Amino acid sequence: MRIIKSLVPVLILLVAAVYAYQQYSLLPDIIEQVLVIVPLLLAVTSFASSFHFNRSVLFFYALVITLANVVLEMGLITTTLSYATLSVVILLQLLIISLLPERGIISLRAIPVHLSFALLIGLTAYVVMTQAPWAAQVLLSDWLPARYFDWTRLAPAVVIIFSGVFLIMLILSLLKPSPQTSAGLGIVTMSIIQMHVGYSSSSVNVFSSAALLMCLYAVTQESWRMAYLDELTGLPGRRALREKFEQLSGMYTVAMLDVDHFKKFNDTFGHDCGDTVLQMIAARLRKVSGGGIPYRYGGEEFSILFRNIDVIEAKVHLDVLREQIASTPFVVNRGSRRRSDRKTSAKKKKSVKVTVSIGAVDSHANNVASPWDALKRADQALYRAKHKGRNCVCV
Ligand code: GH3
Ligand code: MG
Ligand code: MG
Repeated sequence: MRIIKSLVPVLILLVAAVYAYQQYSLLPDIIEQVLVIVPLLLAVTSFASSFHFNRSVLFFYALVITLANVVLEMGLITTTLSYATLSVVILLQLLIISLLPERGIISLRAIPVHLSFALLIGLTAYVVMTQAPWAAQVLLSDWLPARYFDWTRLAPAVVIIFSGVFLIMLILSLLKPSPQTSAGLGIVTMSIIQMHVGYSSSSVNVFSSAALLMCLYAVTQESWRMAYLDELTGLPGRRALREKFEQLSGMYTVAMLDVDHFKKFNDTFGHDCGDTVLQMIAARLRKVSGGGIPYRYGGEEFSILFRNIDVIEAKVHLDVLREQIASTPFVVNRGSRRRSDRKTSAKKKKSVKVTVSIGAVDSHANNVASPWDALKRADQALYRAKHKGRNCVCV
């Protein structure tokens, strides 16, 4: 689901770019002249937004696209070898950026990315200036029969490298679906298409604009995730709940759920183990029946919002959830609290049980005029559940 969500916008941009490229020559000259400025504006916006949100991978993607544009627009690429070198270097740089961990834009830990830029720019400059025969040997030789490659102007070695990079990016975006990996795949595809159709003002304008738009879209999506989703559990956080409350009316039930004796749990098994349990509880909450939407309210407290059902009906679903959590052993890596024990027992698997207490109230209850009142009342019900002995639902 997540993969489809993040790939669809990239696919739409890809199709739109190919269509725009085909239509480009039909545009009046004056519009074409104005469009030249579009990649520049998009580049500035991409740099500013990725820098602001510290999305280093997206910043470096935008840098590759912009540098490639500048080199092409300056007319430095005049021979087949220079073109093949630039094509391969762009793809390799995009791959390196995607494979290295995200470590900031200007920081000591980002030095590997900076070095890769310096090395590949140096290599391109060297090949472009000297037209080195070994580079021609590697990039322009017919490694496979030429008839397999008569559909493209790209050299066989370049096609093989392109296919390899595309495949790795595809695997990355399937393994780690996110707006960022999808943008990486989209930008690589966009670069391949641009190199395949060849350099022209229209191809650079259209395809680099589309690639930069992919960067911008991913920055927006990633910052949305940072703002609304809780990092540990991936559930929507309190900000998302607050926004939901602003639109809420009619019949609904709000539940507050709190993990029992969680401080003791952390003290016994370690904080990392506690984190794992919170993630497992969040996974259970996602599957709550009755259409409940879970939020991480904060710490070891979660809220669940049920639309169009009253508290009596919601209690049935909440009891099922509570029972499921109480009866399912969570398998965690037991980390010892004592430093001396850590080496021997750090990775021992341990099966643990946790229970939760829940308080719930619906919008038709007395003194509930707004979702905020409901939340307060649900919290009071939770307090009663704790006093009743925990591992129960109070309404
Ligand atoms: P009660 O049954 O009354 O709810 O007892 P409790 O121990 O769960 O409640 P208390 O409020 O005393 O402690 C909550 C604990 O939850 C303290 C804190 O260390 C832990 N906690 C809060 N957020 C996190 C988190 O993100 N990760 C981990 N591992 N622990 C957390
Ligand atoms: Mg608590
Ligand atoms: Mg608790």
